[in-house]
Amino acid sequence: MLRAFFIFLLSLLILPFDLATFSNKKSIASSIILLPKKRPTIINKYDYSVETINDLILKEGGKTIGKTFKQKIRKNENLSLFLKRVGFTSNHINSIILKVKTNHPTNNILRNIPTNHLIQYAVPKHNLGLGIKFKISKYKDLYVWQNHLNEVKTKITKRPFKKVEIVSKIEIIDNLYNSAIRSKLPKEIFSQLIKILGFSIDFQRELRRGDVFETLYSKKIDLITNEVIESNPIHYISANLKDNHLKFYRYINRSGKSDFYDQDGKSSKKTLMKTPLNGARLSSGYGNRKHPILGFTKMHRGVDFAAPRGTPVFAAGDGIIEYSGWNGAYGKYIRIKHNGIYKTAYAHLSKIYKKRGVRIKQGEIIGTLGSTGRSTGPHLHYEILIGGRQVNPLKIRVPSGKHIPKDELNSFYKQQKIIDKTIIALRKKMKNKEFAYLEN
Ligand SMILES: [Zn+2]
Repeated sequence: MLRAFFIFLLSLLILPFDLATFSNKKSIASSIILLPKKRPTIINKYDYSVETINDLILKEGGKTIGKTFKQKIRKNENLSLFLKRVGFTSNHINSIILKVKTNHPTNNILRNIPTNHLIQYAVPKHNLGLGIKFKISKYKDLYVWQNHLNEVKTKITKRPFKKVEIVSKIEIIDNLYNSAIRSKLPKEIFSQLIKILGFSIDFQRELRRGDVFETLYSKKIDLITNEVIESNPIHYISANLKDNHLKFYRYINRSGKSDFYDQDGKSSKKTLMKTPLNGARLSSGYGNRKHPILGFTKMHRGVDFAAPRGTPVFAAGDGIIEYSGWNGAYGKYIRIKHNGIYKTAYAHLSKIYKKRGVRIKQGEIIGTLGSTGRSTGPHLHYEILIGGRQVNPLKIRVPSGKHIPKDELNSFYKQQKIIDKTIIALRKKMKNKEFAYLEN
């Protein structure tokens, strides 16, 4: 009985992939395994990396090496200059470079090794052979060593990594940025979240203490260094604000493009953005009243975003620049005509990048935030105009972007279900913590 149990446990460890196929229960493993995967790349034909050159020589056979050192590539240095500097002879350098080039002709390994890139090496001496190892990409290493006939050998290996799915919760305590840092959300995930939600949320005015954001994303972790290789992609985002409840799912459409859609398959992108600048840079989120966070009134027919001077300002939607230049109390000012109905205006800019008459795309940088004209401090004054009249951006319903085509909806709903299952499983693990993860 006990033995059977251990075999079962063992099979869980060895066969997590098979578990998904024979178990119909909502097991954690099955919901995770089903998450959309990237196509396998050519990297799969390589052996795994080991920790040191010595380990590789032990594995592959070759001349014993002496003490290994680590040094960084200097500015304007290529591999042969590096090897010369650390004491390799010209003969050795030539045969190393030649071997690497002929053995790995499709990898431009020796071109543009970035400055400060770390190289592990052992200089050949007396009866001791040479050794070189360095990372040639996030996922690959290159090894160079000698066999017992003194011939130079090279090998590219793939670094072993594990994939982890993480649910992370951000609860607004002071402002969004600090709250995101507290929840240990990686920077790249945070900036993607801001971009996706910037269409639907006014990050300056809509956030309150207690509002909750939730994300599901993947992380790849290098098993040799234990470092995070990358945090990507986001699979899901939700925002639970007082009057605004949003959920977006990542979906890769038939042509291979990934985008975010709500539960019904409507794009997260709207014709106009509610926050037309990098929302992460807003200096006065919830709880800070020092900055001019004016709302929309008869006297003040726009909304203000307080952020550091120089923060890039985005075009809120596709359109044509209708006004570009000084405009009285507005200071440096840009107005964009989006279509027959909508226009947007941006005031108090410090720099203007686009001239009148220029056609621009949504999200393009049109200028930088400043304090020109009648202004008490750096902020963006943003107006949405309908039929030439300023309207309150918080009150209007901006038309949404594209919808998933009908014949693709079923596959979208399937993906949505898988993501929901994963989140539910992870929430159970989370309890009172701010994040939980599952290894994959
Ligand atoms: Zn204003």
